[in-house]
Amino acid sequence: MPPVLDDVKPRHESVSGRFAPFIALAAVPHRDRESIEVRAPFDGALLGLIPRGTEADVDVAVQDARRAQSRWAATPIDARAAIFTRFHRLLLDRREEIVTLIQLESGKARRHAFEEILDTAVVAQHYAVHARRYLRPRRHAGALPLITTALEIRHPVGVVGIIAPWNFPLILSITDAIAALLAGNAVVLRPDVQSSITALAAASLLYEAGLPREVLRVVTGEGHELGPALIDRADFVMFTGSTRTGKIVAQQAARRLTGFSLELGGKNPMIVLPDADIDAAVDGAVRGAFVGAGQVCVSIERLYLPEVMHDEFTAKLVARTRALRMGPALDYSVDLGSLTSARQLEVVEDQVADALAKGARLLCGGTRRQDLGPLFYEATILAGVVPGMTLYAEETFGPVLAVHRYDDVDDAIARANETRYGLNASVWSRSVRRAVEVGRRIQCGTVNVNEVYAASWTATRSPIGGMKESGVGRRHGAEGILKYTEAQTIAVQRLMPLAPPPFLAEERYANLIARTVRLLGRIPGLR
Ligand code: NAD
Repeated sequence: MPPVLDDVKPRHESVSGRFAPFIALAAVPHRDRESIEVRAPFDGALLGLIPRGTEADVDVAVQDARRAQSRWAATPIDARAAIFTRFHRLLLDRREEIVTLIQLESGKARRHAFEEILDTAVVAQHYAVHARRYLRPRRHAGALPLITTALEIRHPVGVVGIIAPWNFPLILSITDAIAALLAGNAVVLRPDVQSSITALAAASLLYEAGLPREVLRVVTGEGHELGPALIDRADFVMFTGSTRTGKIVAQQAARRLTGFSLELGGKNPMIVLPDADIDAAVDGAVRGAFVGAGQVCVSIERLYLPEVMHDEFTAKLVARTRALRMGPALDYSVDLGSLTSARQLEVVEDQVADALAKGARLLCGGTRRQDLGPLFYEATILAGVVPGMTLYAEETFGPVLAVHRYDDVDDAIARANETRYGLNASVWSRSVRRAVEVGRRIQCGTVNVNEVYAASWTATRSPIGGMKESGVGRRHGAEGILKYTEAQTIAVQRLMPLAPPPFLAEERYANLIARTVRLLGRIPGLR
């Protein structure tokens, strides 16, 4: 039997005091500010009171960070990297407590909360090992090799403002900060109210690992108050959230020509090709659609099946989905947790009701489960979802999957691309070559072959992010750290100027240079 609410309640009550030391790390004076309650989605238990920061608090945090940044940037990269290697170990050592905290704040199942530990630890290790290589100065030949040389240098931008949502309390607060900090920036982080305690707990581990407090300041409070204040002061903005808010962030950043990176919403398709391993693909669809109760930017909301396997696939999919165990367990005994907020539950219920009212068919789920907790909603599968229903094209961000049939591969690809979003896609086939060919035609920042989201997310050397209205910029790999830098080219001229010498007429000089450039263009390595 999974431990149900009654079993975990005593632990809930004790946590509100247990997390107070983390909350005390917020860069907001607790005594003089209003408090905001953070409650557990599982049962509404109070987890803690976080201070409601103001614009003045953001101002102080950015000033503190700015003062500390130049000394931090001057710290040798190996010393900076060592802090993140220690953080990686500390996070793995303390995983049980952090996983519980993530579950309490987000309502997600333990296996989904654990994924956050793994990803954050892997990203910390990746940048600790590779930041030196990504950031090192690079020498380039100029137009006239040996005579001109150029040095490409990467400077930190200064203070990076990070605005994070609630659905990945750990990953989205901290992994972007890791890359920004390793690049020599200071960071002011504004986590979502609902995920602030996890963000502060992660900051506490970073401080314990040796990160100077001033270079990572966490301001807690409402996004619509602190977000604009941070965008107006930061030298670069990293925003993760909805496409709607992302556009507001971009407009505000543009007023000061502040650089930004946006990781936004998705309406992610999964295409099963006729030769796919049907059981593996069913398993993938269930994991991909219902991970984190569907409140995952890269989770699958649209499933495209070929006519030949539609009925068998759908029957297996529904059976697997009905067998999912759902509940508020703080151990690994359930597959599915709760939604995180009443607002998200309302969106899910409204979209499903709208689809059913307009003729969609419910294959399973579709019901709120208040017997388990206030925000539980069953894993839901719909058929007959057509244009005109809100969930046909709008992101649901909940445990709802729409199943569609397709005629041929061209039709499947066209329908996968028939959206303003372009975040993540999944393609299933026994022929990897064929699946990759299909993937190249899908307009998404990531495509997972015979997987749903984990393969691309955990390939830390390779960039991830959104095409179309799913984002601007990328996280992970070289792009995920270089975006927090300003490129500077210092070019050195030797022996002769890039101009006609006094003894040569301009026309003869022009002819000579044209011949030289033509010649150099033929030499591999100098082009
Ligand atoms: P949201 O856009 O409503 O809010 C995101 C954050 O922005 C919140 O913390 C909010 O308080 C803050 N905010 C609100 N107004 C702001 C403003 N004017 N300026 C700056 N910040 C402001 O999104 P949400 O509902 O909290 O999160 C879910 C959305 O995030 C989904 O669309 C999901 O797909 C997306 N998301 C994307 C990724 C990704 O990596 N692409 C990851 C997770 C979530």
